[in-house]
Amino acid sequence: MIDDIRPELGLRQIINVSGTMTALGASIVVPDAINAMQRSLPQFMEISDLHKRASALIAELTGGEAGFVTASCAAGITLSVAACMTGDNLAAIEQLPETGTLKNEVVALSGHLVSFGAPIDQMIRLSGAKVVSVGQATASHAYQLAAAITERTAAALYVVSHHVVDYAQVPLSTFIHVCHERGVPVIIDAASEYDLRYFLDHGADLVIYSGHKFLGGPTSGIVAGSKNLVRSTYLQNRGIGRGMKVGKESIVGVMAALAAWKTRDHNAIRKREQDSLDLWVNTLKDRPGVRTEVVPDPTCNPLDRLKVSIDPILAHISAWDLARKLASGDMPVIVRDHEIEHGHFFLDPCNLHPGQDEVVAERLTEELERARKSNEVVATPIADWWMEREAAIRHWPD
Ligand SMILES: *Cc1c(COP(=O)(O)O)cnc(C)c1O
Repeated sequence: MIDDIRPELGLRQIINVSGTMTALGASIVVPDAINAMQRSLPQFMEISDLHKRASALIAELTGGEAGFVTASCAAGITLSVAACMTGDNLAAIEQLPETGTLKNEVVALSGHLVSFGAPIDQMIRLSGAKVVSVGQATASHAYQLAAAITERTAAALYVVSHHVVDYAQVPLSTFIHVCHERGVPVIIDAASEYDLRYFLDHGADLVIYSGHKFLGGPTSGIVAGSKNLVRSTYLQNRGIGRGMKVGKESIVGVMAALAAWKTRDHNAIRKREQDSLDLWVNTLKDRPGVRTEVVPDPTCNPLDRLKVSIDPILAHISAWDLARKLASGDMPVIVRDHEIEHGHFFLDPCNLHPGQDEVVAERLTEELERARKSNEVVATPIADWWMEREAAIRHWPD
């Protein structure tokens, strides 16, 4: 049994079936990373040498020429955009976010300018760059991308995520081709992607991953790609990167997580996740107003989730009220709810400790049976639910 610090801190012992969420503590950090971080903390080390070691390991895993550990993927976006503006010009690095005569425009598809918890476009603007959006949210074309590129363009950002508009967008290969024809470097936000090689193999100049998502590292980001651009990203530590710095423990921790990734038994993990999905499908089978479907990850990561659709008339409860009830009480279960107004949520098995899938099944049974027994249909109008959620944001710390 894991030594659980949460009761000591007065925190709820939540079970996370929503995936890798910053607001819930990201992911279960792998034991090798925890151990390495613990061993690093009492020691002094030359941080630029440590970054060199991390660079070599990142290069090995990604196929890039070099790599740099940042505070987060979000920081990686800001710093790699800065790198594309300043190069290794140290005076320009100290001058940001004033961009002066530097090229300072970053093109991105309108359908990619989403929120991952904060706006992607703000991560670009933090560097001092201006965002030039291409096309419309639900349609973008190569000719629009070509027309958006000018002599002011410093970089192009392409976002890979379940959040982006997933139809009628310029395909990645076309995006890279159009940008490279015009000498514009392409940065990929691949925060949540498993495949550490795909984007560089397909011609991207820089790719950015989160260290604390599937890798199971500490809170961190990884920038990989061309040596010149990675160096210029690293050099931002002398400027705007200072406030986004990582400590020795994060660099060491993400290195250990990367090393563990090399030998991770992905088949065994998929098997365990499949067992959880099977359990939940069985639990929810033949329940009135409940429909389930195992769905693949929208960006093709090797991960399936269970989509649970709720008919409030038959189930006597709406999807969002059910999600709220599951998240309350002594055994709070937090589901993946980003599409909840469509009447469904997802159960994501990738961040569970052994046995927690059974607790999830019990809680689903408990809440669905309670709702069915009641003669009243619990269905908060979605507009009210939405505004309550918005109001709750501002209540912190009370
Ligand atoms: C999670 C995420 C981010 C932010 O990553 P952090 O490492 O938490 O800063 C950025 N972009 C996308 C697409 C994400 O999914």
